[in-house]
Amino acid sequence: MGNDGGSIPRRNEMVREKKKDEKADRKNQAIAQNFFCALSKLPLQEPIVGDELGRLYNREAVLEYLLDRSAFGDGHSICDNIQSLKDVKTLKLTANPTTSKKPTSLDGQPAARFVCPITMKEMNGNSAFEFIWSCGCVFSEKARRELPDASTCIVCDAPFVDSDVVPINSVDLESLDTLKGRMAVRKREREDRKKVASKAKSKSKNGKRKHEDDGGGTESGAANKTGLKAAKTQKSNGMS
Ligand SMILES: [Zn+2]
Repeated sequence: MGNDGGSIPRRNEMVREKKKDEKADRKNQAIAQNFFCALSKLPLQEPIVGDELGRLYNREAVLEYLLDRSAFGDGHSICDNIQSLKDVKTLKLTANPTTSKKPTSLDGQPAARFVCPITMKEMNGNSAFEFIWSCGCVFSEKARRELPDASTCIVCDAPFVDSDVVPINSVDLESLDTLKGRMAVRKREREDRKKVASKAKSKSKNGKRKHEDDGGGTESGAANKTGLKAAKTQKSNGMS
């Protein structure tokens, strides 16, 4: 270092040192995010779940948090978005076949527990990984981009749409904003489905009652149709 022997460090040396520190910080953060549960800070252990923002948790920690929101102190500031198990997806990960042979890599970094099943790239924070919200399969971003058919999962063949792709531990603010937007859409869709289901349930109850009142026959069919029309009108009013 140029700071030895009382010499004044030059600006470019200081900038270089700062950049080195930032790089080390990013590396440590990537290790923490890919090896430890975001909530309990314990090593990730299967079953592992991912939330809609791409953060990884031990399922057990999420369950504990849902039962007691203060179980992890500042838990709510970490995963305020998790209100039930519907807000996380159990991930299908591929174990790293070399982990048991070499617990640490040459540079002292812990060996990745999981790999991409297509490229065999290690999931250690050095390369981008993602999972599919609809099926839970995890692989490297590179694997998905290189395969021709982008509409079925490269692991389980299940169909998916672009908005099902969740980048894991992304630090890109734009990507996080997109994920937050998708999270809001999914929540709205879930609530709409719930409303429709409860309306259908009460409609079938009413229909049954009407059927009993009429003593059966074709009129109840007409009543059901009217009920359906009313429900539809209500729904479109509610959605506007
Ligand atoms: Zn899949």
